[in-house]
Amino acid sequence: MAAQPNSARRALLFGRRAATPPLRPPWALDEAAFLDACTACGACVERCPERVLVRGAAGYAVFDPRLGECTFCGECERACKPRALARDVSAEPWQLRALAGEACLPRHGVVCSSCRDACPARAIAFPLTARVPLPTVDVDRCNGCGACVGVCPVGAMALSRHATEAA
Ligand code: SF4
Ligand code: SF4
Ligand code: SF4
Repeated sequence: MAAQPNSARRALLFGRRAATPPLRPPWALDEAAFLDACTACGACVERCPERVLVRGAAGYAVFDPRLGECTFCGECERACKPRALARDVSAEPWQLRALAGEACLPRHGVVCSSCRDACPARAIAFPLTARVPLPTVDVDRCNGCGACVGVCPVGAMALSRHATEAA
């Protein structure tokens, strides 16, 4: 079992809150409350059957969609005894949405649709245009599972907390 991070390390993380925090497991509390409650015990990381959770800075759990898809099975939330992950059945597990970046192959004239093929929610479409079709994400269908991230051959697909707000 990992040692609990001391207050100095925790304060260091709080001091860096201006930077974009890493992606946390589903049902994580807001970043400040998450860091307060989480003991970095690693239980959620060990319990995840998809192996998409890793230990990040100071041992706090991070969701890395490059490793695979979150199926929202809830195992991580059930494993979290300090309730840093707290399922609210009336709320979404998170606000993450997929977003294709500048490296996306069709932006450079190369046909690709790997992300669409991997999406279990059928949230990615390629509207026909005169040029090579570009991926568009339906933010109402996308649940931020991350299945489209690791399959992108150029690492152009990512999850963003801001996609929903910007839509
Ligand atoms: S909900 Fe399931 S698949 Fe998703 S991070 Fe938690 S344990 Fe892993
Ligand atoms: S898989 Fe990647 S490169 Fe291909 S269309 Fe999707 S975002 Fe673009
Ligand atoms: S994050 Fe999941 S639901 Fe959203 S577009 Fe990617 S594969 Fe589809």
